[in-house]
Amino acid sequence: VDGSVDTNVVGTYKITYTATDSSNNTNSVTRYVRVRDLSSNTGVIYLTFDDGPSSSSTPKILDILDKKGVKATFFVVNHDSSLDYLIKRAYDAGHTIGLHSYTHNYAKIYSSKENYYNDLNLISNKVESITGEKSMIMRFPGGGSNTVSRKYSKGIMSELTKEVLNLGYRYYDWNVSSGDAAGGSPSSEKIKNNVINSLRKDRSNMVLMHDIKAATRDALKSIIQYGKDNGYSFEKITIDTEMVTQRVNN
Ligand code: ZN
Repeated sequence: VDGSVDTNVVGTYKITYTATDSSNNTNSVTRYVRVRDLSSNTGVIYLTFDDGPSSSSTPKILDILDKKGVKATFFVVNHDSSLDYLIKRAYDAGHTIGLHSYTHNYAKIYSSKENYYNDLNLISNKVESITGEKSMIMRFPGGGSNTVSRKYSKGIMSELTKEVLNLGYRYYDWNVSSGDAAGGSPSSEKIKNNVINSLRKDRSNMVLMHDIKAATRDALKSIIQYGKDNGYSFEKITIDTEMVTQRVNN
């Protein structure tokens, strides 16, 4: 074992494990261990927006975030490249651009690991070409806990959720759902209540929203106001943000 971890000092540690068998075959793997101070993370709200950008909602959402002085995270897709300027605008405003999917087509991306990584690389290259920065922050379509992938490839999430970490990515599920993607087009009042009723002071709150939803846009101001009035702070995801992950089900 090459390298060591000091759990008393926050940081990222590189450890390389090497093994040799009796026939002198040697192999090694490298793992990164992050030591973090979790006590500093309590009462934080991470607003995250999936599946955008959208011409009708994203500009408004960016306006509101700006006005409130809040930084958020956008997990983007490639549904309409004429909206790339909105990804650039979000990035320039200081928000985090995370990788969601190029196609968001479950049947395609979860049919094989190769297809998954092809899709991930496409959205990664797209984001890098827009912002000039490679994003290593990602969210699986459907989340790490999705069961839809079972239909296309048994066990694929168990492998992907480990492999992406070894590739240097960090993936973020959520522990607060706004329910804005639920059927029946929930009202902005309902979305706001879904969020504020799930917030907790003793953890970081990773909030799932979609910037393609008009009702989400309309709920945003009051969600932020509630957070501020109740002593929460708002942060964007960075590569050092502790991952919030759900149980893997496939
Ligand atoms: Zn999505």
